Amino acid sequence: MSAIAVAEWKSILDRIRAVHPALIRGWFSSLKPIDLAGGVLRIRAGNLKQVRYLEDECKPAFVESTQHVLEQLVTTAFETDAPNDIADDEGYPLSISENNQLQLNDDYVFDNFVVGAGNRMAHAAAVAAAENPGQVYNPLFIHGDVGLGKTHLLQAICHATRRLGTCPTTLYISCETFANHFIEAVERGAMNQFRFHYRHVDLLVIDDIQFLGARERSQEEFFHTFNTLHQAQKQIVLSADCLPSEIPTLENRLVSRFKSGLVTSIDAPCMETRMAIIRKKSRLRCIEVPEDVIEYVATQIHTNIRDLEGALLRLDAMSQATDGTISMDLARRALADGSEASAISIQQIIDVVTRHFGVRVKDLQSKKRPKSISHPRQVCMYLARELTSHSLEEVGGYFGGRDHSTVLHATRTIKKMVDTDTKVRQSIENLRASLRVQQNGAG
Ligand code: ADP
Ligand code: MG
Repeated sequence: MSAIAVAEWKSILDRIRAVHPALIRGWFSSLKPIDLAGGVLRIRAGNLKQVRYLEDECKPAFVESTQHVLEQLVTTAFETDAPNDIADDEGYPLSISENNQLQLNDDYVFDNFVVGAGNRMAHAAAVAAAENPGQVYNPLFIHGDVGLGKTHLLQAICHATRRLGTCPTTLYISCETFANHFIEAVERGAMNQFRFHYRHVDLLVIDDIQFLGARERSQEEFFHTFNTLHQAQKQIVLSADCLPSEIPTLENRLVSRFKSGLVTSIDAPCMETRMAIIRKKSRLRCIEVPEDVIEYVATQIHTNIRDLEGALLRLDAMSQATDGTISMDLARRALADGSEASAISIQQIIDVVTRHFGVRVKDLQSKKRPKSISHPRQVCMYLARELTSHSLEEVGGYFGGRDHSTVLHATRTIKKMVDTDTKVRQSIENLRASLRVQQNGAG
């Protein structure tokens, strides 16, 4: 069927302008009627965000106006051929799309996730949520100790929905990001955009939701975000380091919402799983590790998979410094208690920094923000970035699951101080020296 006449289209828009002036947006003039067939007038918009707005806010107005002008019983449908992207002009870099990638780690896919007794259920639920979003487990709440694979599973869901096309619009964020954007939106009077941004997604994935406990006003807002998405059967996936009921100062109504879908835990991996993970990671990074070394490393490190990976990288770095092979002897040296010849661990950095500033590790990992705590925390992050090969996300993971932007901010802050403040420069140099002593002492 053919498109409607230009004059008719103009009349439709004019009528909407006259009857529903509040709905009109500047970009309405770029809308194009495509065709009228089977009682449906198809209208093309410039992007998905416009489509959402038209669908959610303007459909009755368009239908009424079209029927009035054409004198036919028709409905309207909105579409776009632009790529899925609801990144908005507010500058929230949140949407996963072709143009606006959120920091998804390419390695964090289901294929690279080793399934074992400790994570079987969480893995199966994550796969199910990705394949049938909003249908089976909603919300899906995954909890477990740090370094056991929560972030990996959450990102795997995002990768999978993207590949399967099950969720055109996906938001993967940390709890901190949500809370910070909320505050920002309140301050800038941009709540409408904020709500639009968070409530028009097919999949909302929030990592480390336990931090919501400390954010009273964000809780209120999140409650409504949650309800809107849940009612629309949009998939929600959350992770935390504890059960919903154990999140300190989380409102009861949120606890009960979080419990209303599937709550599943990731437990520490067994020996077999640990070995399989080392095998997988070494293959991914093209590091050749003999079986006896794999077994040795898996015996030595049993609680945190991130540490398992750290050990592998250390082995690799040390082997590069010699003849490139990884032997049992090298492994023993690499894992020798507390320190090793050529790499510094985050734990060592934390030890040295907490001693230097007289603070406790627990404080560094807490949400506390006074300068006496935040400065040492930022110093740790700065040194970790400088002296270890951990990624921003990994460093954030060591400090209470903070997101990469926090780590980036911390390293920049300290860098600036080092450049401008002699006292800070001196104290960083002292810290580096203590770490070097430890390192050489062990080598
Ligand atoms: P969490 O978010 O629970 O602190 P992460 O998801 O960041 O933990 O996992 C830490 C590291 O361990 C990541 O590099 C991740 O790929 C790896 N990891 C965790 N569990 C597994 C698993 N079952 N198979 C493969 N890698 C895993
Ligand atoms: Mg994590």
